[in-house]
Amino acid sequence: MKKRFYVNGQWTSSERYAELHSPYTQEVIAEIPQATREEVELAINVAHHARKEMASLTAYERAAILEHLTQLFIDNRQKAAEIISLEAAKPLKYALGEIDRTIETYKFAAEEAKRITGELIPMDAAKNGADRFGYTIEQPIGVIAAITPFNFPQNLVAHKVGPAIAAGNTVVLKPASQTPLSALFLAELIDQTALPKGAFNVVTGSGRTVGDALVESDKVKMITFTGSAAVGKGIRDKAGLKKVALELGSNAGLIIDRNVDLSKIVPKCVMGAFSNQGQVCISLQRTYVMDELFDEFVEQFTTMTRQLVIGSPMDESTDVSAMINSGEQDRALSWVQEAVEHGAEIIAGGTTENGVFLPTILTNVSTSSKVSCQEVFAPIVIVNRITSIQEGIAAINDSIYGLQAGIFTNDIKTAFNASKELDVGGVIINDIPTYRVDQMPYGGVKESGTGKEGLKYTIHEMTETKLVVWNNQ
Ligand code: NAP
Repeated sequence: MKKRFYVNGQWTSSERYAELHSPYTQEVIAEIPQATREEVELAINVAHHARKEMASLTAYERAAILEHLTQLFIDNRQKAAEIISLEAAKPLKYALGEIDRTIETYKFAAEEAKRITGELIPMDAAKNGADRFGYTIEQPIGVIAAITPFNFPQNLVAHKVGPAIAAGNTVVLKPASQTPLSALFLAELIDQTALPKGAFNVVTGSGRTVGDALVESDKVKMITFTGSAAVGKGIRDKAGLKKVALELGSNAGLIIDRNVDLSKIVPKCVMGAFSNQGQVCISLQRTYVMDELFDEFVEQFTTMTRQLVIGSPMDESTDVSAMINSGEQDRALSWVQEAVEHGAEIIAGGTTENGVFLPTILTNVSTSSKVSCQEVFAPIVIVNRITSIQEGIAAINDSIYGLQAGIFTNDIKTAFNASKELDVGGVIINDIPTYRVDQMPYGGVKESGTGKEGLKYTIHEMTETKLVVWNNQ
């Protein structure tokens, strides 16, 4: 029951512990060590010390470690998924899906470890470049602090730990307070590989204490953070000259053009809006449907939403379970209330049942309502009517966020224009904005963050480009 940190390849106790509760049953599921600043500094020192050994590994060795880790996740798929369901209330079918993606993410990291290359520089293209030979090499940057959110406790950690190892860096991981068990299980798996001791460390505890110690340390060379915009901005303000990658929130939008086949689209929208209780950074939050299809879309969408199975996250048939905590649930309820006060209509849900926030559909929502202009991060989706695609594009762009957007259309010109005009990091044509595979470049504009994930892209951010020039005169 009492968990320990993983530092320098050893399991160490702490002086202070906090109870971890299941979001669904509220039962105590573990006691989690709460790191002091000194304990975090110890983990940083260990990672700092291990960086030379880590940097000396060959690409072959780093890839082999990641391949071994991939295999360990394949062997422990069910157990890893059950841990996610237990601590995050992610329904088991989605938790299994997350582990399948985690397996792919580490596999891609293993492959990319073998493809880290520099480039030849045509030195003699400059007047003073004759008889010079130049090239770049990509070198590891050293200690990386990874700070991760609760909503994908294995795969979003994999997006940081995988490329960090692939590039030859060392890591101190601080998982979200609600999902430390997945991070500690990862440590158990990594412990079985040939990764040098001290190259991967996990410290748990409060975001402020652990986060500040990581962000303020001179030995940490990069912060890779996934979480809310508010915390991300605070990290950037304190990080000084460190590299900072920020994967933040969004209020993802979708446009549905006229003349599309709703029978293919509606099931995707239901999944995009309600999987993991809408607690996904690219969850479908705002849907803009062309006038001609609006009524039919709402009808089909509502019918299918009402068929979702509500219940325990550990039950394989469950589609929707509890939100991460009651405070978040209360916030979501108050946002629905505000939208209604602004004139919105509740088509489904809008309330709780046995501690679960029911999948909620709102129409006629004002752009000034929080459920529209802020990140809702709850099983709530807006469906608004539009009379032109341009109106839909303008509505999606009218946001402080810009992570991904989707458009369903059969018109090539419409799709092409949307791909140019939508102010987001990724435009998904003929699918929901929630679509992601793990090797694609992924990251937002505006308050959705800076930097790209997707193994190749992250590795680039986790290395320093060094130039070498030879003089042959
Ligand atoms: P969060 O509250 O911002 O927490 C994220 C992480 O930051 C947690 O580990 C948290 O620790 C830590 N933290 C809190 N305060 C900190 C501080 N002052 N300094 C350093 N670290 C600190 O986010 P969340 O509620 O876990 O996750 C939901 C958010 O993540 C949403 O906004 C969602 O959109 C975003 N997200 C973005 C992506 C993406 O790829 N763009 C993917 C998934 C999620 P504690 O848990 O101990 O507070």
